[in-house]
Amino acid sequence: MVKAIVGANWGDEGKGKITDMCADKADIVVRFQGGANAGHTIINEHGRFALHILPSGIFHENIINVIGNGVAFDINALKNEMAEINKAGIKFKLAVSDRAQILLNHHILMDTYEEERLADKKFGSTKSGIAPFYSDKYAKVGIQVWELYEKDMLKEKLKGMYEKVNIQFKYLYNKPEIDYMEVYNTLCEQAEFIKPYVTDTSKLLRNAVKEGKSILLEGQLGTLKDTDHGIYPYVTSSSTLAGYAAVGVGIPPYEIKDIIAITKAYSSAVGEGPFVSEVFGEEADELRRRGGDKGEFGAKTGRPRRVGHFDAVATRYGCELQGATEVCMTCLDVLGYMDEIKVCTAYEVDGVKYTDFLTTANLYRAKPVYETLPGWKSDIRGIKSYDELPKEAKDYVEFVEKQLGVKITMVSNGPERHEILFR
Ligand code: GDP
Repeated sequence: MVKAIVGANWGDEGKGKITDMCADKADIVVRFQGGANAGHTIINEHGRFALHILPSGIFHENIINVIGNGVAFDINALKNEMAEINKAGIKFKLAVSDRAQILLNHHILMDTYEEERLADKKFGSTKSGIAPFYSDKYAKVGIQVWELYEKDMLKEKLKGMYEKVNIQFKYLYNKPEIDYMEVYNTLCEQAEFIKPYVTDTSKLLRNAVKEGKSILLEGQLGTLKDTDHGIYPYVTSSSTLAGYAAVGVGIPPYEIKDIIAITKAYSSAVGEGPFVSEVFGEEADELRRRGGDKGEFGAKTGRPRRVGHFDAVATRYGCELQGATEVCMTCLDVLGYMDEIKVCTAYEVDGVKYTDFLTTANLYRAKPVYETLPGWKSDIRGIKSYDELPKEAKDYVEFVEKQLGVKITMVSNGPERHEILFR
């Protein structure tokens, strides 16, 4: 049985927590897209961790964690993260796709230089190299893992690659050029480091599917950051959709039977771009301070996240594009301080109401239309069953569920693994 755990919004919905929790019953956990540019926060008996590149199944010793072919594979990030996890005494199994594409240091530099060049028109990139990486991948000049072990070919390829990169570095960015032999030597070292993990992970997964194993596909970011369907151009450079997961790991699309879309009980987003139900000033500061497990600050960059009211228009769209078969709402506990809770149920553009998500320019023009529900004014952490929630909290969940048109099967009332209410 293959299950995808994906974001319905702008990312940071709590996918890591839910994957870690669901991993209890899984055999394999797989990352299928994105790189080390976002973080999944996981709090369990081992401590608090922010995973960037390792799949969230690493806290279960028997699970195979797979870095799929669709990932922007940052070997340095993997090395650092593994060192941290090993330090905590955690043992895990890892497999890396022999077709995963490698993120190179110049991708990170290019990302940084380009944001500098764009100045006030910047994208708000995490500067992890993701956009230049995927550009190279689709321009077919990037390097797949298997190429690390074809030394002569690799050297030739790098030589050609850096002729082009260096023209850009020298003339566009006015930055030092890169010696391709240095890159070659680094890659040879990295090739040795990852060798024990490299395998045909698509075959591994196709076999696992045939054997009826339980596989979790772990998404990074969310629908609204999808390259095609998100708030372009303020998106990420890979597809964040469950539909892409089949490609990003190499299994048949019809094998993905369950798609859990994760959404927060309010909205949060990082980076630039339109955000219709965003709040500002003191109202935002308070929600940001109370949000997540330690406030709404990026797991990767520590940047304050933008926050807002729950956006039912964006989330319904997010769930539909994911093909959600069920929804998990996280961070319901965070709203316990509010007298009343607003939900954005429509957008208004030039006097016309829309209940469908719009293209970016229209999102910038859109004003939120809110419906207001009463708050429950209490701390719901520690509550063990959905039925025990205050009536107003249940009404809120059920109101959102109706807006989304998909069953909310799980409500998370705290950041820790066990803090979950099943419906
Ligand atoms: P991901 O990238 O989707 O895994 O999300 P992040 O880890 O970046 O952000 C989610 C934040 O919410 C983290 O700080 C989590 O610890 C926290 N979190 C997850 N579920 C809950 C919850 O139910 N309540 C609270 N208060 N925090 C939660």
